[in-house]
Amino acid sequence: MRDVVIAANWKMNTTPADAGELAASLAAATRHPEVVRVICPPYLSLAAVGRAVAGEGIEVGAQDVHHEASGAYTGAISAPMLAGLATWVILGHSERRRDQGETDALVNRKLHRALASGLRPIVCVGEVLADRDAGRAEAVVAGQVRGCLARIDSETLLAGGLVIAYEPVWAIGTGRTASGADAAAMSAAIRAVLAEVGSTRLADSVPVLYGGSVTSANVGEFLVEPSIDGALVGGASLKPDEMAGIVARAAVTATARAVVEAASRPADDRR
Ligand code: PEP
Repeated sequence: MRDVVIAANWKMNTTPADAGELAASLAAATRHPEVVRVICPPYLSLAAVGRAVAGEGIEVGAQDVHHEASGAYTGAISAPMLAGLATWVILGHSERRRDQGETDALVNRKLHRALASGLRPIVCVGEVLADRDAGRAEAVVAGQVRGCLARIDSETLLAGGLVIAYEPVWAIGTGRTASGADAAAMSAAIRAVLAEVGSTRLADSVPVLYGGSVTSANVGEFLVEPSIDGALVGGASLKPDEMAGIVARAAVTATARAVVEAASRPADDRR
């Protein structure tokens, strides 16, 4: 049974002085342990968020990590620096691809580093509007998945808990969303690539999230799709009331999946 994951990407918002209070509010608003809940604040707020959510079952992630462990990389943050502060990391977010020129090859190096360092990766992929309008969205995203996962074997990806976030670039922060059906079709395309480059088990096991203007009002359209396993949430993740609705809806999906899973086990195993 795949994890149902709701990951909050705070982007460049909050300071160490106010992040703890927001994280505590989110924790109080989202007490559904059946949902894997992750908060990814700016680096400088990781410690404050970690303290605020201690004992809440919420995990903490970074928004990026450097591909090298140390060296002459001014301003960069490496995996060893995140020890004790973060257990997850977002890689290849479209804002970093756009603003820092990150390529699939670089994301691949970061993914190698994250997996070797025990950071659970959320690898972001997604097409720009011109790709979707030209009918090549699936080909573009498939190429991104292949590039980001290159030269990493299926067992390593499974052991590292790989998560993929499908985030159409035109839907991020715009108020526009993909339809649930389009997101599900993309999730199926992503799983086909996972089977091709890895294994059927990888394709069946990796949680695929949707991201792009997710709110409490629209998250159900995505979570109703069996191939979508949660959401990467940007703007709405700064609002405890919104996150309360999003995580509560995710808990419905997680509970339904657990019931189906229990019913599909042989009677002997259920006792
Ligand atoms: C994101 O930051 O990954 C994201 C999807 O942002 P938003 O929810 O604001 O579109």
